[in-house]
Amino acid sequence: MPELPEVEFAARALRRWLEGRRVASAQAPPSRIFRGSEREAFLRRLPGTRLTWVERRGKILLLGFTENVGVLSHLGMTGKWIRVPKGAPPPSHVRASLELDDGEKVVYRDPRLFGRLAVHPADALLDLPEVRALGPDPLVDGIDPEALHARLARSGRPVKVAIMDQGVIAGIGNIQATEALFRAGLHPARPASSLTLAEARRLVDAIRASIEDTLVAQGDGDSIVYVEEDRSQDPFRIYGRAGTPCPRCGTPLEKLELGGRTSVFCPRCQPL
Ligand SMILES: [Zn+2]
Repeated sequence: MPELPEVEFAARALRRWLEGRRVASAQAPPSRIFRGSEREAFLRRLPGTRLTWVERRGKILLLGFTENVGVLSHLGMTGKWIRVPKGAPPPSHVRASLELDDGEKVVYRDPRLFGRLAVHPADALLDLPEVRALGPDPLVDGIDPEALHARLARSGRPVKVAIMDQGVIAGIGNIQATEALFRAGLHPARPASSLTLAEARRLVDAIRASIEDTLVAQGDGDSIVYVEEDRSQDPFRIYGRAGTPCPRCGTPLEKLELGGRTSVFCPRCQPL
């Protein structure tokens, strides 16, 4: 499932493919990635525009086009933006596509349809309630350890559940939370309020390092493989590896259920 690094990959790719190019036409069969009249707005507003900027906040992509046309894209569980060269067959499960003036297409593929596309004025995208509700983005804003420590001190939840709350930190999901807590040596079930300031600092550094390592592993090509699609390319240290030896100390990794999600941890490196 896409988290901050996968969405950042999409943002960088969309900038490369679309920035300054003219949208010749837009297509989208009816599907539930659009709500209400969003599909008609997508089909009517996009043709003739050019992409001028792409921003990412947490897991939300924001695309600004000329004529004050803006698109919000949430990749859900299986969404991906894909470049289709002129004349090449499109992939399956395409829910929306933008044809550029040279015949190349940029398409949104989403087999499971948990993603979302919405059209808004470009100058209103960053002020949308769902964007404003996000906590600091680790790459865009940086996370202030003292502010995070103060926020966690008021939370009765396990630290892993707290840091996956998009209002606490934007963009962290199960993978990055699992990896960051391992790097920081923190047990995922620790009450968030029990973290010391020093531990919060370690956690902030670990989140940043985990995201950056994931971005480096993804490279800067045109396509990305989600971990659910092919585990052989997965760059993660402990995510999904319960029962295998800890990469640091060799103790078998264990798992527990937290907030409905499986959490892998090392009982030795991450004592409770
Ligand atoms: Zn260990």
